[in-house]
Amino acid sequence: MAKKIDSKIPAGPVPEKWKEYKAHQRLVNPKNKLKLDVIVVGTGLAGASAAASLAEMGFNVYNFCIQDSPRRAHSIAAQGGINAAKCYQNDGDSVYRLFYDTVKGGDYRAREANVYRLAEVSNNIIDQCVAQGVPFAREYGGMLANRSFGGAQVSRTFYAKGQTGQQLLLGAYSSLSCQVKAGKVKLYTRYEMEDVVIVDGRARGIIAKDLTTGKLERFSANAVVIATGGYGNTYFLSTNAMGCNCSAAVQCYRKGAYFANPSYVQIHPTCIPVHGDKQSKLTLMSESLRNDGRIWVPKKLEDAKALQAGTKQGWEIPEEDRDYYLERRYPAFGNLVPRDVASRAAKERCDKGFGVNNTGLAVFLDFSESINRLGLDVIMQRYGNLFEMYEEITDVFPGDVANEINGVKYYKPMMIYPAIHYTMGGIWVDYELQTSIPGLFAIGECNFSDHGANRLGASALMQGLADGYFVLPYTIQNYLADQAVWPKVSTDLPEFAEAEKAVDAEQDRLLNIRGKRSVDSIHKELGHIMWEYVGMGRTAEGLKTGLKKMAELEKEFDTNLFVPGTKEGLNIELDKAIHLRDFFTMGQLVAFDALSRNESCGGHFREEYQTEEGEAKRDDENYFYVGCWDYKGKGNEPELIKEPLEYEAIKVQTRNYKN
Ligand SMILES: Cc1cc2nc3c(=O)[nH]c(=O)nc-3n(C[C@H](O)[C@H](O)[C@H](O)COP(=O)(O)OP(=O)(O)OC[C@H]3O[C@@H](n4cnc5c(N)ncnc54)[C@H](O)[C@@H]3O)c2cc1C
Repeated sequence: MAKKIDSKIPAGPVPEKWKEYKAHQRLVNPKNKLKLDVIVVGTGLAGASAAASLAEMGFNVYNFCIQDSPRRAHSIAAQGGINAAKCYQNDGDSVYRLFYDTVKGGDYRAREANVYRLAEVSNNIIDQCVAQGVPFAREYGGMLANRSFGGAQVSRTFYAKGQTGQQLLLGAYSSLSCQVKAGKVKLYTRYEMEDVVIVDGRARGIIAKDLTTGKLERFSANAVVIATGGYGNTYFLSTNAMGCNCSAAVQCYRKGAYFANPSYVQIHPTCIPVHGDKQSKLTLMSESLRNDGRIWVPKKLEDAKALQAGTKQGWEIPEEDRDYYLERRYPAFGNLVPRDVASRAAKERCDKGFGVNNTGLAVFLDFSESINRLGLDVIMQRYGNLFEMYEEITDVFPGDVANEINGVKYYKPMMIYPAIHYTMGGIWVDYELQTSIPGLFAIGECNFSDHGANRLGASALMQGLADGYFVLPYTIQNYLADQAVWPKVSTDLPEFAEAEKAVDAEQDRLLNIRGKRSVDSIHKELGHIMWEYVGMGRTAEGLKTGLKKMAELEKEFDTNLFVPGTKEGLNIELDKAIHLRDFFTMGQLVAFDALSRNESCGGHFREEYQTEEGEAKRDDENYFYVGCWDYKGKGNEPELIKEPLEYEAIKVQTRNYKN
């Protein structure tokens, strides 16, 4: 009998739910400056916005990050934009439409009520950020500009050139800095959370390491919020920043927080292809480029072979011999189909031999048509920094004319291929963003809450800032209202001492293995296993093989790892070893979840479950639930707990991007 999960969604039709809920929240007066402490781990868009907002409401906040400044959180990498239902283009957008697109984009595997709330607060985010001075792109007349992202037929993406995440983070950081100056936020940079401390069943604090001295320290608070990002780097090569890790989330999972939908991993279609075995990072070319760039491969196999052999170049292939396969297969959405659909379509063409590049594992993203139509100046205004980034990495400038056929100019196309990018799965949270451990909250990419099986472009920043500015500051008060009568617990409690001792012992264990292999060499091997068996196309047999190989490699990690140095002072290799230990737990969790879900949906594609046209085939009768995993110890299969999904406002149907 599956355990039941209470997601605490009040009854009633969806739009009403949130209104009632907000009314209820007003009972807790935000002006009532409670003397309560909250730990916020993470200073990305979710963490920084939450820390600033909680401090503004009167809570004392301890805010941690592993970088030397909050401004260096991975969120600064976000390029393309942030969605909101403002309808500035007068193109028929609305809160309902954003809600609908997001639920559909997530392949009907998101919690409906959460998504409605997200769509509803999306407009407030833009107002908040404009008030902070975020320099969003504007039209000539002064209105905020918009562009389109995948899975939508309206323009609702607000952007700041190709640096939207950076500008939004600077806005959040300025709010955070005000609160630091006001003494309401104490920042701990270069501090890493090593464990969450549970006292009497509630999260009461953390053990953190000062990364520069190696010293372990104890922090207690009335509630703990983790905003520590996703687990994409389990695959070693991804578009995530090198420092991204899932250790904080895995620590919470080991302490009893359920982990939801781990198999929902997003593979982004427009990344610079892998170019060699020595590579440690992949680079995203923003989805925004699909507004003006057209994706194609040659129609003829002999052209593809010539491109692979380097005897022909893309710009030598005339229009009639190009297969704009997304426009052909999905006429209604064309190049702007959601990421899972675009990635699979690219893989399908490459698997059939039509791929370009010397590896055959790439497709073209071509700006010839839009440059001819709009001029290079306009295209550079929109994507200048992305063109420059592409040139820096590949030595090809996509704005260079390369050929002229029948009076039509052809520019050098970009080459792109799918890569691991974002993780929809994460720590399970209820409607209040509280995990299954009371007093422990999870926000931003590290929770599972809003994107179902596939996230639409420009919706991660929306969710992170919705959680941080507008949802958590309300919902955490329901928990903290009770806590006013609780004194903050002492860090001398045995629970803190035991947690610290366990972290210390684990560091000793890793340092004392004294084997022969570096952290990176093992991590790279884990990445290969993940990509091969738990990647874009999964099968039951492959997943079982992947699990077996991961268990063997984990044994190698436990017996043949070499970590130089000591635990005193800065030891980056030791920190990486701890992350890799947790990537093993995560990788296995992704595989267990993928194996248990005998259907294809969104980013989770089981090759056994596809339509004749190669589209994902869902099984709503048996898998219409959130899969939550309960940790059962190292080497043991975790327990699956199901949260049934309930849809009231949206009819669940097969996704269609063709018409
Ligand atoms: C290349 C790229 C481009 C993207 N572009 C877009 C886009 O255009 N639009 C969009 O909506 N989304 C985009 N995304 C996704 C989006 O950027 C992320 O999902 C989002 O920024 C995550 O924010 P976050 O605050 O949840 O986590 P992060 O920004 O990852 O921040 C995590 C924070 O946690 C801290 N941390 C982690 N572990 C610990 C620990 N153990 N102890 C202490 N601190 C810890 C880190 O120091 C950091 O401060 C993009 C992603 C990538 C990779």
